[in-house]
Amino acid sequence: MAMKTDSSPSLQPHPHDNALYVHVPFCRRKCRYCDFFSIADADRETMQAVVRAEIDGIDRFADALAVASIDTVYIGGGTPSLLPGDLLERLLARIGGAWRPVEWTVEANPESLSRDFIDVCARTGVTRISLGVQTFDDRLLRFLGRAGTAAHNRRALDLLAARWPGELSLDLIVCIPTQTVAGALRDLEGAVARAPGHVSLYDLTLEEGTPLFAAVRSGECAQPTTESEIEVWRETRSFLTASGYRPYEVSNFARPGKECLHNLRYWRLDPYIGVGPGAASTVPGADGTALRLETTQDLRQYCAADPLSALSVERLSAGALLLEQLMMGLRLEDGIERSRIARRFGAPLEELLGGAWDHWLAKGWVRADESAYACTDEGRLCLNPLLREAAGSISGRSNLKVVWP
Ligand code: SF4
Repeated sequence: MAMKTDSSPSLQPHPHDNALYVHVPFCRRKCRYCDFFSIADADRETMQAVVRAEIDGIDRFADALAVASIDTVYIGGGTPSLLPGDLLERLLARIGGAWRPVEWTVEANPESLSRDFIDVCARTGVTRISLGVQTFDDRLLRFLGRAGTAAHNRRALDLLAARWPGELSLDLIVCIPTQTVAGALRDLEGAVARAPGHVSLYDLTLEEGTPLFAAVRSGECAQPTTESEIEVWRETRSFLTASGYRPYEVSNFARPGKECLHNLRYWRLDPYIGVGPGAASTVPGADGTALRLETTQDLRQYCAADPLSALSVERLSAGALLLEQLMMGLRLEDGIERSRIARRFGAPLEELLGGAWDHWLAKGWVRADESAYACTDEGRLCLNPLLREAAGSISGRSNLKVVWP
């Protein structure tokens, strides 16, 4: 259970094997489907105060954990490309001035991607830009409530091709109401023609509380059926595979060596520091536990408070960590390394899950070899029921122990 605290949590020094996420909570306007924390139309003064507080947050975490190196950085949002150039540069320079991450991603949206943005990224050591294209179909972009158009997508991709020397990842959305399989494949053809190293392909999910959720509930539009979602999943996956992209995670495809190292850390349940309003961290606590820390979404409070106080703190139990390890790791094509499970939980997964693993194996939903446990394609389609069964097995174990990270 998470508890609010006004004093800093006790953290275990963790000099190496770190990742940093910075949340930039600003958007031009809210998309109809989005439940990420971001606000529309913030003024410069607000952005400046948040960036200042984020730099302070980076400093405080770095001190508390005695951080000597950061392997990966991800600046997400929100829309980082909406920050004025000087504020973006201030934030990036703080990171680049202290560490040399092997991978450093900044997210951008096509309508706010500028030459200045690209140049600041290149100058400060960013290695990867992730562009939220979503679709090249103007009708669907309007339906989604996106601020950009297909013309913005093309212009941004042209600009990146001309000026950006680093890696490129493109985000697309499928299973949008009225989008056909042929339409989804056309979008992918348009994306692949730009030769990105990485493609993220997300199903549109209906999040409660969003305008799109209300529209579907009121009958304004129909949600795609499960059968059509599976067809889109199979067709798009087969197109991307044939185009040289490996489906290394349920929604993520990469050319060899271009996998997102930062997101792999989340899927492997490795430690990470999160700063910015509404950001989460999973870091080692001084008493040998894993701590999940969450900052407030209240911008005024975020900017006024000490970054390591006024956090919500959750101590993750061994059972919670094991379930999360499965939830994240079984999304990966390569699955979860046996050595990671043995090191963290002290026993093989077959034993930790009682009869559940053998049941899944018999059904053909999972596979295991001498190095890893993974889902089969069929298992990945029924991942939620598998995880519910795993949760039942794990909650019945009172003697579970964990050594993390
Ligand atoms: S741009 Fe991204 S973060 Fe902003 S509202 Fe749209 S989906 Fe949400």
